[in-house]
Amino acid sequence: MTQNSARSVPDLVPAAEPEREDLFASAAAYGVGEIHIKSDPSSQLHAIIAIHSTRLGPATGGCRCRPYPSTAAAIEDALRLARGMSYKAAFASLPCGGGKAVLIRPDRIRNREAYFESFGEFIESLGGRYVTAVDSGTNTADMDIIARRTRHVLSASREKGGSGNPSPCTARGVRMAIEVAVADVLQRNNLEGIHVAIQGAGHVGYALARELHERGAQLTVTDTHSDHMLRCSDEFGARLVSPDLIYDVDCDVFSPCALGAVINDATVKRFNTRIIAGAANNQLQDERHGQLLQQRGILYLPDYVINAGGMIHVLYDNPEQRELQLATMINTLTGLLSRSRKSGVPPFHQADLMAEEILGLAHVD
Ligand code: NAD
Repeated sequence: MTQNSARSVPDLVPAAEPEREDLFASAAAYGVGEIHIKSDPSSQLHAIIAIHSTRLGPATGGCRCRPYPSTAAAIEDALRLARGMSYKAAFASLPCGGGKAVLIRPDRIRNREAYFESFGEFIESLGGRYVTAVDSGTNTADMDIIARRTRHVLSASREKGGSGNPSPCTARGVRMAIEVAVADVLQRNNLEGIHVAIQGAGHVGYALARELHERGAQLTVTDTHSDHMLRCSDEFGARLVSPDLIYDVDCDVFSPCALGAVINDATVKRFNTRIIAGAANNQLQDERHGQLLQQRGILYLPDYVINAGGMIHVLYDNPEQRELQLATMINTLTGLLSRSRKSGVPPFHQADLMAEEILGLAHVD
């Protein structure tokens, strides 16, 4: 299987049954060298930890906890996400490698404490090669439980000395990336009057709306959750549209901040924008859709290149250091756009090449 098909499983959507049945073939396709598995019937834990790279530091990546149609689908998700974390960290010059934990959630977790303590013991058994953090289906309270059994855990609650909610930092990085894209495509050096359509006004989307509003941008916002939309119209004067109409909004920037695979066969021809830049993971359903955006003259900023702010937040306590790391991320983005312009390779593909270069990997096609 090529990287194309590896991209096709969307974020936060149940993974389709993978085509590969051979575990080693799957691992090789994603360049993952280690897959660790723990089954603990007494706590109901069925956990997978995939380690993609420790070249730049311990493999770091969130812990996702949700139901899966099969163990193979869960492993595929862990592999894909572990590689994504490596690329994200490499691109943002962070001192960590890429890994991911996937917990196959039972219908009901009988005892959440026993469940996450068991997972903490699993992490501890890897001796620091993998460091966990919050991801979909887990929260800072779960991280506090994990921390009873291992110190290799980030994003614990503030009460337990953790860094708290990373979303504002993610939003800040996305806003800075939007500024770079606006300068590049529209030759504008500020966001005054720039029209941004935001899909999803949750943790990141809402913080992004604030960042943009403060800089004079004009906003159109959608969300499936009406309260989330309404706070954006109340606080930032955002125009609201229903979720199915967001793709048609005539805007300068479309910002996906809800879910993955939103750039797909059904949407790619509808976009009425010059730039796509948002926080959601795995926005392209397939690389083909990235090519189609390029042909349509739409600049797409690869998600993992611009959404590393959350990782920066959990890795660094010091606000000045966070700013420095965000600035580094933005410098690398500027370098990416200039290399892409010279090579004619679209940024989403050029980004993979650059991340693999940093990681000392050969590109798989
Ligand atoms: P969230 O759950 O707080 O927000 C998502 C929002 O999208 C919710 O308000 C939800 O109601 C809305 N939504 C869901 N389906 C929708 C649809 N079809 N149309 C419109 N709105 C819809 O999540 P978040 O933490 O804000 O993260 C958003 C995305 O960014 C996710 O893909 C996440 O993986 C990614 N991300 C988040 C961070 C972070 O720091 N939180 C970091 C990196 C990447």
